[in-house]
Amino acid sequence: MLKKIALEKLGDLVSALMEKGPLYAPVKGEKAVDFQEITNPADVILDFYNTAMSPKFAFFPQSEDLIRYRLGKEATESEAVSLDAKPSVILGVRPCDAKSFEIMDRHFLGAGIIDPYWNDKREKTTIIGYAFDPSTAADPADFYNTLGISASDTAGSDIFMIRTDKHLLFKGITEKGDRLLKELSVLEAGSKTDEKTFEDKAKKGGEVKTRFMEIQDKAVAGKLVQVFNNKEFWEKATAACISCGACTFVCPTCYCFDISDETLFRDGVRKRFWDACMFTDFTLEASGHNPRPRIFQRYRQKVCHKYSYHVDKYGCISCVGCGRCTRSCPVNIDIYSIIESASKL
Ligand code: SF4
Ligand code: SF4
Repeated sequence: MLKKIALEKLGDLVSALMEKGPLYAPVKGEKAVDFQEITNPADVILDFYNTAMSPKFAFFPQSEDLIRYRLGKEATESEAVSLDAKPSVILGVRPCDAKSFEIMDRHFLGAGIIDPYWNDKREKTTIIGYAFDPSTAADPADFYNTLGISASDTAGSDIFMIRTDKHLLFKGITEKGDRLLKELSVLEAGSKTDEKTFEDKAKKGGEVKTRFMEIQDKAVAGKLVQVFNNKEFWEKATAACISCGACTFVCPTCYCFDISDETLFRDGVRKRFWDACMFTDFTLEASGHNPRPRIFQRYRQKVCHKYSYHVDKYGCISCVGCGRCTRSCPVNIDIYSIIESASKL
């Protein structure tokens, strides 16, 4: 199903989506464009390259309450926080980020135990993907082509959006997407010409080139096992790293979290919040022993987890080449160059 709306009616579309439930879309902040829950349709922008933070927070918030409890003298009463995500929409997700949700599903839904918090939000959310503009060169940090993703890839989206000079075109990719498209009376039906335009633009997106290296999941996973003990390589690659963790927080496929209890008088809440393998105390044990006290060990863990252990456990690389880690690193450490160098050893 193909639908369309004139560009100047974007506000009408945003209002119609807001009536369905919470809407997350790109908004220009002081320093960067990022996804936010929309309260004013005029805040939504579609002229952006990619957001600074990934949209993973919609399913995996930076901080999330799991259990609430009340401390008693004899017993503690507790209750799990109810799962009550409202049907929501994320508008304007770039193809690499849409793909990241499928990768995260393998961990949160496919590892033998379903994470109810992720699942609740994931099931109730419709993702409207948004093709990169084929007339704009890819950011030099991006390498999503290496991971088999194109600038107009529809994988991971429920609806895929392509912008033309005058319109936004929407194609239903999943049943969930088709359902939403049917409900949005603000959209017009696309013509045969619109369908052709959509296909032509999608094809053009396939021609956008990011950095690229030949990579084969199992081969790179095996190579990293061989390189693991090459201390000199890892120390050199990470010499400038200050272990700030920015690269993990912006990453759409990083999912490490910690769990802690916060209690005020007798009321407490157990919550989980993002953590990062780049932090010194991430692996600090109660005994005081830390198996990864050095920065190179922590960065090596990050790279090997994404490109080796994840391949062994879930059958795919846990990276979509979005380039955020490189763009956000204060000392210009680039995971692509590290994988490329390791592959040549
Ligand atoms: S490791 Fe870097 S390039 Fe890969 S998905 Fe994460 S932020 Fe994007
Ligand atoms: S963003 Fe750069 S400096 Fe910070 S932890 Fe990551 S690699 Fe190290």
